[in-house]
Amino acid sequence: MRAQPTASHFVNGAYVEDRSGAPIEVVYPATGEVIAVVHEATPEVIEAALASGAAAQVEWGRTRPVERARILRRAADLIRERNPELARLETLDTGKPIQETLVADWPSGADALEWFAGLAPTVTGETVPLGRDFVYTLREPLGLCVGIGAWNYPSQIACWKAAPALALGNAMTFKPSEVTPLGALKLAEILIEAGLPAGLFNVVQGRGAVGAALVSDPRVAKVSLTGSVPTGRKVYAMAAEGVRHVTMELGGKSPLIVFDDASVEDAVGAAMLGNFYSAGQVCSNGTRVFVQRGIKERFLSRLAERTAAIRLGNPLDETTQMGPLVSAVQRDKVMGYIDTARSEGARLVCGGGHALANEGFFVEPTVFADVTDDMTLAREEVFGPVMAVLDFDGEDEVVARANATEFGLAAGVFTADLPRAHRVIGQLQAGTCWINAYNLTPVEMPFGGAKRSGVGRENGHAAIEHYTQIKSVYVGMGPVDAPY
Ligand code: NAD
Repeated sequence: MRAQPTASHFVNGAYVEDRSGAPIEVVYPATGEVIAVVHEATPEVIEAALASGAAAQVEWGRTRPVERARILRRAADLIRERNPELARLETLDTGKPIQETLVADWPSGADALEWFAGLAPTVTGETVPLGRDFVYTLREPLGLCVGIGAWNYPSQIACWKAAPALALGNAMTFKPSEVTPLGALKLAEILIEAGLPAGLFNVVQGRGAVGAALVSDPRVAKVSLTGSVPTGRKVYAMAAEGVRHVTMELGGKSPLIVFDDASVEDAVGAAMLGNFYSAGQVCSNGTRVFVQRGIKERFLSRLAERTAAIRLGNPLDETTQMGPLVSAVQRDKVMGYIDTARSEGARLVCGGGHALANEGFFVEPTVFADVTDDMTLAREEVFGPVMAVLDFDGEDEVVARANATEFGLAAGVFTADLPRAHRVIGQLQAGTCWINAYNLTPVEMPFGGAKRSGVGRENGHAAIEHYTQIKSVYVGMGPVDAPY
């Protein structure tokens, strides 16, 4: 199984190699096999990426939006045409089952390119009449942007950042996670093939230090990070030094509240989607499932039954429903949380072990019941297939408990009582919410977090705010009235 890219980086329209950078091994999580090696970007590679991006942006920012849009739409078409091979690469890079990568990863990236292509030509300013004089505003690109990705949705993240940035006239240099460096290179290749001028979307590889070098470069106007809260704090502080714009898509510990009038089958299905999709490695997962006491036993027994039927195994087999975790480090971290949950007194309903021992980084889909708010499992982001079920009695109680966390990425409510659904959502401190659904994130929907889970929004019209700035122009139409 080899997935060696042409070279480590993609800069100024071409693959670039510089083996003097430290090697990064790419491991296929289903077997532990090394499938590629890339090298960290050296200062020379970083310089070439940022310099070519800054230079190319000047002309791109002046290009008619409809022309920019045409290129992005072409890229979306190429992604759709090549989806089977791109999905396979995503599966090798992440270990996620091909059943998922075929429908979720690159397809949602193509959606973002297409949607922002449609949006860009409609972005305009306003005119403000002032009697004789008037003001008009222009929405201008920010300039050179830096994108930094996490490893759970590497290609979707690259597309979700590149699409609004490029559509609105910016350049972007993107650093994928060192754990999953392959997909972003394909995006760079496809954009060039679609007609994007060289330099506007560059990919450089590396660990945190390469990210830090990008974030602190004086030419950079904006940083968009997807990652953990601790990394977010560091990157936000570095960006603040240069008064740069930021979008921070960080971690979560989101509540999913199931009232006893909800459809048990739908609520169980949503809780499973919100804890087991991508082996639980999804930032917006509803990892605190609050179930009203009246349906607790019915909920748990149906959940256990359906969870036991999940097919784990070879991610390249289309019938496989769950693959391994992304790395041995992540598997060990998740197993540590499972041990802690047991020792703190949570009741194991199903799972709890390594699966397919010695064959990659698999963890069984795991459910704990009788979890209480003070347990580690209810407080920390696990990022693995581990669901915590907590009991509750009343509406006010559950809202207060759901909000008692530093995170605020997402939240969900299941109930047949729609006024109650809206009332509860209105009180939840979360940026992205669902009623009688969970974890659906179409590009039309702004996505992002409240509290420590982030600042700014990706997708939707909201993203326009985060990749443009307003220039206000006062037009004097008569003599200047000066008191001197
Ligand atoms: P991470 O924070 O370890 O790394 C994220 C990225 O930041 C990587 O590319 C890494 O190399 C880079 N980085 C690390 N230190 C840096 C530094 N000092 N300066 C600049 N860049 C630096 O996160 P991860 O383990 O890759 O991903 C998992 C985390 O991401 C989870 O917390 C998850 O919730 C979060 N996440 C959030 C979203 C969202 O949209 N809100 C989506 C996916 C993942």
